[in-house]
Amino acid sequence: MGLSKKVKKLAIIDACVDTPEEIILAADLVPHRLFGDPSLPHSAADEHVPPTHCVWTRNILEQGLRGLPGDIAGLLSIHGCDCTNRQFDIWLDSVKADFMYFLNSPLKRNNTALKFFSEDLKEFALQLEEYFKVEITDEKLHESIVLMNKIRETLKTISEFRNKMILKYSELHELLKLVLTSDKSQALKICEDKLEELKTRDSFSESHLKRILLTGSVLDDTSFIKQLENTGFHIVIDDLCLGTHYFWNTIEESGDPIKAIAQYHLEKPIYSTKVPSHARYEYMKTLIDAYSVEGVVNIAQKFCESVLYDHPFLKTKFKELNIPYLFVEKEYNREAYKQLSTRFDAFAEII
Ligand code: SF4
Repeated sequence: MGLSKKVKKLAIIDACVDTPEEIILAADLVPHRLFGDPSLPHSAADEHVPPTHCVWTRNILEQGLRGLPGDIAGLLSIHGCDCTNRQFDIWLDSVKADFMYFLNSPLKRNNTALKFFSEDLKEFALQLEEYFKVEITDEKLHESIVLMNKIRETLKTISEFRNKMILKYSELHELLKLVLTSDKSQALKICEDKLEELKTRDSFSESHLKRILLTGSVLDDTSFIKQLENTGFHIVIDDLCLGTHYFWNTIEESGDPIKAIAQYHLEKPIYSTKVPSHARYEYMKTLIDAYSVEGVVNIAQKFCESVLYDHPFLKTKFKELNIPYLFVEKEYNREAYKQLSTRFDAFAEII
């Protein structure tokens, strides 16, 4: 039986920052991105996936198998990597949620991909309409696009306070997690208030901090970010889903809204789960120049195929660029983070 109540949340598993939040909002639902819980043991997920499965998705699966919160009305999973793709079959089979949709976000970025993605977004909207008994009109989509663009623009302005040595990435990280789980009108107000407050702050006195660009897999545990900062780094800019990839561009507000949403996702800075790798390197190179970056840190969740695939190429390119580069694979539990301190300390010393 379908549901028609407002303020229901649609859980999101997104390994590629391609969630069409505007469509979910136009269906009167709140997009609620799922984040990992590093304190959770993986007893249930271990029965479903092999030991070499990405530790982050294993953690998310564990949460699903234990039962999603009662206000979650369904689930959207987006094709980021093969891991999330194949894991969706387990969700379908073993997790209790009546509405589930797998969105085929394309890996390539060309006209065929645009047409394909637009069609799948239309199908997603249609299924939301049928299941939740709502009408997703162009007007509602347009309103959602305008709202999301305001949020993105405000977040981008907030992010610039990192460059002024006023805002730490860990604080932006917490804000982004709030935005990705809140009602979006409230989220806009929270962002606007944060921006006003930042304007009144002085810059940090810690002038010794090394300015780095942080890249890698989905890094959603703020305590890990704080550990990195406490080693002596200032994450002045990033190439992450909980970072620039969420707010760098805006959606065209005129024309066919579904096509505009698809176009936005195919034109925004390319993410680590997409190809070609050199386009991602070019994006990072632009950021390195613009933000006077002194070193690059690339963190892979253990067994993250996408980031492991790109690492040798990036290592070569950053060497050519003569910029210090550190690659680290991490487990998804806080006890294991401590072992990385020595490597972070050593890297801070060579910058
Ligand atoms: S961390 Fe890597 S392997 Fe895991 S879901 Fe994200 S992209 Fe896929």
